[in-house]
Amino acid sequence: MKQQTTDLDQSAAQRLAAVRARIEEAARAAGRSADAVTLIAVSKTFGPEAIIPVIEAGQRVFGENRVQEAKGKWPALRTRFPDLALHLIGPLQSNKARDAVALFDAIHTVDRPKIARVLAAEMARQGRRPTLFVQVNTGEEPQKAGVAPRDLGPLLALCREELGLAIAGLMCIPPLDEEPAVHFAFLAKLAAEHGLSGLSMGMSADYETAIGFGATHVRVGSAIFGPRG
Ligand SMILES: *Cc1c(COP(=O)(O)O)cnc(C)c1O
Repeated sequence: MKQQTTDLDQSAAQRLAAVRARIEEAARAAGRSADAVTLIAVSKTFGPEAIIPVIEAGQRVFGENRVQEAKGKWPALRTRFPDLALHLIGPLQSNKARDAVALFDAIHTVDRPKIARVLAAEMARQGRRPTLFVQVNTGEEPQKAGVAPRDLGPLLALCREELGLAIAGLMCIPPLDEEPAVHFAFLAKLAAEHGLSGLSMGMSADYETAIGFGATHVRVGSAIFGPRG
């Protein structure tokens, strides 16, 4: 499908540059280095024709929310651009763990003992060690993935002590109708309590706020690629 023209008819490269500039500014305002913030360009629903210009503009870290979709489009892109990193940011089913470990360099959505166990087994089997984040359901929304805050300690203990999985940090998706800052502050507090330095939080609408609360990974889709069809 032909892409709609978006904000001010900017190209993806221009939108990427604008996002990067805003990340720099938000980091400076927070007294942080912009180098401490990894921009994950979320390319879900977009095909290679939309992704390639963003790679050519210098972006190297991409995020996808579905294993199957990523498996269809990224192997060819990775052959052509070998220095890409691919992050899984969507919910993971255990029957997709094998493909996820094979394909992704980071998985942001470890959220229950079963998936932790399956990932540990696959990582051992494949000899691959994607960076892992635990997703926390900070708003305790019944329909949303993520471990409940009260179950975070036990899940981290299982990962670290029993399964030998290094956990890099925490991830959250705040409820749509709530102030994201409250959730970013809560996630940062949970991470600090558990000695974790990684914070995957902030999307197109709120990544600058997230950087103010210490985000190390922001997941930005539509602000780079334009609206999803
Ligand atoms: C789609 C998605 C994003 C990016 O959303 P935008 O609002 O387009 O920036 C970030 N995180 C997750 C988990 C997503 O599924």
